[in-house]
Amino acid sequence: MCFFHTSQTKCNCLEVTKIMSLPTKCDYLIIGAGIHGLSTAWHLCKKLSSKGQLKENSVVVLEKSKVANGASGVACGIVRNNYYQPAMRRLMAHSVNVWNENAEALTYKPVGYMQINSELMQEGMSEVYEQQKEIGFDSEFIEGASDCDKYMKDMLPDWQAQGITSVLHEKKTGYGANRGAIEGFHKLAVSAGAKVLEGVTVNNLISSNGSGAVSAAETSEGKIECTQLVVAAGPWVRKFWEILELPNTVNIKKPDGSFTDDIPMWSYMALEEGELEVDPRSYKTANGTEYPVIHVDTEATLVSNKTGDVIHENVMWGFYYKPDVYRDGIQGGSSPYDINKPVNDISLDPYGHDSDEFQPRASFEDKWTSALAFCQKQFDGCHAKYKKQKAGGIGCVTPDRFPVFDRYRENVYIIADANHGYKMAGLGDLVSNELLGEKSEILEPFRFSRYEEGKLHPVSKSPFPWS
Ligand SMILES: Cc1cc2nc3c(=O)[nH]c(=O)nc-3n(C[C@H](O)[C@H](O)[C@H](O)COP(=O)(O)OP(=O)(O)OC[C@H]3O[C@@H](n4cnc5c(N)ncnc54)[C@H](O)[C@@H]3O)c2cc1C
Repeated sequence: MCFFHTSQTKCNCLEVTKIMSLPTKCDYLIIGAGIHGLSTAWHLCKKLSSKGQLKENSVVVLEKSKVANGASGVACGIVRNNYYQPAMRRLMAHSVNVWNENAEALTYKPVGYMQINSELMQEGMSEVYEQQKEIGFDSEFIEGASDCDKYMKDMLPDWQAQGITSVLHEKKTGYGANRGAIEGFHKLAVSAGAKVLEGVTVNNLISSNGSGAVSAAETSEGKIECTQLVVAAGPWVRKFWEILELPNTVNIKKPDGSFTDDIPMWSYMALEEGELEVDPRSYKTANGTEYPVIHVDTEATLVSNKTGDVIHENVMWGFYYKPDVYRDGIQGGSSPYDINKPVNDISLDPYGHDSDEFQPRASFEDKWTSALAFCQKQFDGCHAKYKKQKAGGIGCVTPDRFPVFDRYRENVYIIADANHGYKMAGLGDLVSNELLGEKSEILEPFRFSRYEEGKLHPVSKSPFPWS
């Protein structure tokens, strides 16, 4: 009989059969089987095993629906290093190594990532490049309109975007399959010894020793005691924040020493994404390699390729695309928008592509296909190939829109990635070190206390809140 399932028949451990009854206790209880919950489980099991401390119920992951049914399973799947914030770059450099070292298991394609910019972004990107060099990250930086144009045309001969004055070309980043990568993490976690139980909803947390530490979780399948709890619930983090009675608002220390008014701890953004129905394998660079991921940030005028109307003028806008062999098309998106509703009125379920409420707006199709045509001549008229389907999803963000990774109530570790996180394949490695008592220098700039200490990350000029 399979160790993880009650099924007597042959089982590959990844099929949802009737789950074994919930264990009554475990050492590490992880809520959420998205990228972070599974990556943490995998790394934790490997480390416990190497210390000879891994037991049957050392690491249990509870998932209310199925593996990859949250944000990780609808992510665009893009992995990059370039962030304006040094702390984010260090975190991403560590994760890019994890992607590359486990490329096959995690469906990773290191096709490269190109950050293509107008003048307004040039200085910031040049700093990013210099710092990438310092940490030994493999990238190339091209500056000046004509050199950029030549570089792009050498690679993509029909390139035609105007007003580009810098290109940062990362060589080892790229993309993965959204669900495929998470299923890869699932396999790695299970084969390392984690128990991943699907269809188990955590409804409440119990503190019983007077210290505030969480001693157990109440779930749809009963109670499970734990020594340490990890909340890796993605956009559902707010529910656990509330149960733990953590503050709904924060006051951020300003450079002059005064504090902001109350700022809500959580808010939500909607990501608009879409696809062209084309054969991704037919898109090659001039030297026959797979396309890199292309991301453009510019304030050039964007004119509709369909109607000739102006879509953007004198504002920064951004978009991205990639021929994606996993989705069998060209997939991409544009800058997200804020969901201006009180957070308690935002329904997360049904989530992602199943949501009727949070789908790309009517304007998205024209904007994204016109941006493709702005960049490459062959995309002239490509709106005819736009797939009419549900896409995108919503993400939960923090007051400064950067991650918060921290410990609360003695034994609760919360992973709140502020929707930056598919690319953070290695976060679980760093979090598992902290769970085992070793502080991570890389995670130090992401503590909750940074708000009251005024230790915020620098802000870039990108139209994306997470650049
Ligand atoms: C449309 C879209 C595109 C994106 N594209 C990218 C990208 O290209 N690159 C990138 O780096 N990032 C991207 N992101 C962000 C990225 O997807 C998220 O930051 C990341 O997947 C979050 O991972 P997670 O493990 O924290 O959460 P999730 O993947 O959401 O996993 C959390 C899990 O917890 C479960 N859960 C919740 N509540 C409970 C409960 N009470 N009991 C049990 N289980 C529970 C959920 O069902 C879910 O499966 C994108 C996000 C969206 C929405």
